[in-house]
Amino acid sequence: MDWLAERAKRIKPSATLAVTARANALKAQGVDVIGFGAGEPDFDTPDPIKEAAWKALREGFTKYTPVGGIDALKDAIIERFKQDSGISYDRKQILVSCGAKHSLYNLFMAVLNPGDEVLIPAPCWVSYPDMVQLADAVPVLIPSTEKDGFRIKPEVLKSRITKKTRALIINSPSNPTGSAYTENELRALAEPAVEAGLLIISDEIYGKLVYDGFRFVSVGSLSEKIRKSAVIVDGVSKSYSMTGWRIGYAAGPAEVISAMTNIQSQSTSNPTSFAQKGALEALSGPQDFVGKMREEFSRRRDYIVGRLNAMPGVTCSKPQGAFYVFPNVATHFGKSDQGKKLLGSNDLATYLLEKAHVAVVAGVEFGSDQHVRLSYATSMKQIEEGMNRIEAALKKLA
Ligand SMILES: *Cc1c(COP(=O)(O)O)cnc(C)c1O
Repeated sequence: MDWLAERAKRIKPSATLAVTARANALKAQGVDVIGFGAGEPDFDTPDPIKEAAWKALREGFTKYTPVGGIDALKDAIIERFKQDSGISYDRKQILVSCGAKHSLYNLFMAVLNPGDEVLIPAPCWVSYPDMVQLADAVPVLIPSTEKDGFRIKPEVLKSRITKKTRALIINSPSNPTGSAYTENELRALAEPAVEAGLLIISDEIYGKLVYDGFRFVSVGSLSEKIRKSAVIVDGVSKSYSMTGWRIGYAAGPAEVISAMTNIQSQSTSNPTSFAQKGALEALSGPQDFVGKMREEFSRRRDYIVGRLNAMPGVTCSKPQGAFYVFPNVATHFGKSDQGKKLLGSNDLATYLLEKAHVAVVAGVEFGSDQHVRLSYATSMKQIEEGMNRIEAALKKLA
């Protein structure tokens, strides 16, 4: 029997989680694998955040909460938007979900009709195209190049808008490239999008992780008009090293947030009660953890970019944010490992995992077969060893 719906058949499992699973399987066999696959910070969640959750548990805060999150957490989110970006929202414009990914999912379900097109600058996070397809809509990838710093140009964006286009996704700083748009660049994209009646979906999950004094700008702060056509998605996973807690949120027009809340009410209900208390502490407590993490990431980024560029046949631009690098490795395609030709990023990633015991994610998963993605959310020691192994493995290819 074929039990599966067409919808389920359209969807691939998350490629980044798959790489981590393969690396873990090797580790379980006793192989010492260096993992550059992970999309999460390697730091522990700060103690005050854990304490807040413990306290909530001890006090019996273990029941259903309002579907869209507790008021105190919504207020803390509103306050963060005000302090960080000077934007004002009210509680009706905020939804707390089980991770930013869940907010995005609710959003796509709330605003997309079958056949609607969603513009996605590429290389892009693996989940956008699949989530858009789950909502029966059509992902339209807009490629960008290394030469342009992996940023799309406004003319190209405009040329891809059709009668069916409903939304534009912006992810700055980006996963997988780490590249980010300046305020002017962002405005040049947002203005024509709003003019064309599109909803702007801004995934700002890496907004706090920018380096070398780069100034992160929220799409919501560009203008009142743009803010009214935008849904901002963010969460505590990356900034506070809380990926397993599953707390993310969305801010946007009240009618969109209300529809997203209804969808959440018929699927997951509220995000975990005591995890919300942890997130409340993360967003309203001292913010020094974020700065320390940023400093450490910045140091690792400098090192890893330097090492990669010193390898034969590898070029790697220095990203403005997030914790990924996206080196171009295409000059190695066509070379062989023991008679087996490596034809693309998947072959190269498999070669590195099997022969060098280093886990990286093939760029083809993000929309660029010339590249691989490495996360530097791992210790400096691991990064050094991983770079040595990749360098040696690439030299062996003939
Ligand atoms: C990690 C990530 C998310 C999702 O984070 P959650 O853990 O679901 O809050 C969203 N967007 C991008 C680009 C990410 O890398």
